[in-house]
Amino acid sequence: MAMRQPLAFEICEAEGTPLYATPDYPENPGLTGETPLAPPFGEGFLRVARPDGGAGVRAQAIRMLSIGACLLVLLVCALVTGGILLVRAVRRERRDARRKTDFIDNVSHELKTPLAGIRLNAELLAENRLPDEEKRRGALDAIIIESDRLSRMVSELLDFSRLEKGTRRYNLETFDLAAFVLDPAERQGIATVSQDRARLSAKGPGCKVVADKDAIRQIGINLVTNAVKYAEGEIDIEVEGTMVRYLDRGPGIPPGDEERIFERFYRVDNSLAQKTGGSGLGLSIARSLARGMGGDLTYSSRPGGGSIFTLTLKETTS
Ligand code: ADP
Repeated sequence: MAMRQPLAFEICEAEGTPLYATPDYPENPGLTGETPLAPPFGEGFLRVARPDGGAGVRAQAIRMLSIGACLLVLLVCALVTGGILLVRAVRRERRDARRKTDFIDNVSHELKTPLAGIRLNAELLAENRLPDEEKRRGALDAIIIESDRLSRMVSELLDFSRLEKGTRRYNLETFDLAAFVLDPAERQGIATVSQDRARLSAKGPGCKVVADKDAIRQIGINLVTNAVKYAEGEIDIEVEGTMVRYLDRGPGIPPGDEERIFERFYRVDNSLAQKTGGSGLGLSIARSLARGMGGDLTYSSRPGGGSIFTLTLKETTS
């Protein structure tokens, strides 16, 4: 329980001249209370004051005021921060909504283009309108290429959905990274997506990693597909230690977009991206897969022009 402060007293005549005061009555009483003396004590009055002249009460009032002011400042800060966060959230929502619409447009376009190609070539073959063997072979090849494109698109969408739902499972194994990437079957897979533009090499001795081979394959396909789409010339794939680097001589990523290209649905706003189709999911999926295995995928610009995408994997501890 709070201790009550003692009070000091003074008895005064009616006109205010003090007659008697307790020894602790302060010289500057500050805040006082008065009550008239009743007969038979005469016309005077009793004055009550705090022995410290009210300094304690003032200090407490100042303390309360300071606490009040601090709370007010905190409230204002909380309101301002809340406002800023709200505005940001609304902006992010709007941006996401716009990107989703772009994504649906892009995906619809991406699905329609190969379908149209498949249908056209299938009709030409069905109606026997291609006179020579070479043209018929060309139509069949076009159907195979377009259906590959379609199935890549569909697996990209399925991968994205699994990653978003968190249901993608990783089959982690310990293996030599260079031996895996340079394996003839893997080389062949890369040669197909890169249209024979990829040069694979290993720098230094092989290194054992703990990773999911399917995920590495998927990351490689996404990065090489991009290099084919956005760059001309050779695509270098270098294995060094626990890293695989994908280098091209394309336009690179504009400053400021280096991290945003890994966001879902994000596509660089330039004529190159407009010219080439895409869902804006390839890099986001690739980075999610890399991180899901305990590694990472980063971008850096290539000296002399172009892009370097570096996949870093977890080294085995045993
Ligand atoms: P998509 O290729 O379907 O648009 P991605 O997520 O794979 O989506 O890539 C995001 C964006 O990053 C692309 O739209 C493109 O502008 C840019 N990009 C990706 N890879 C490269 C590259 N190798 N060179 C230049 N720009 C690239």
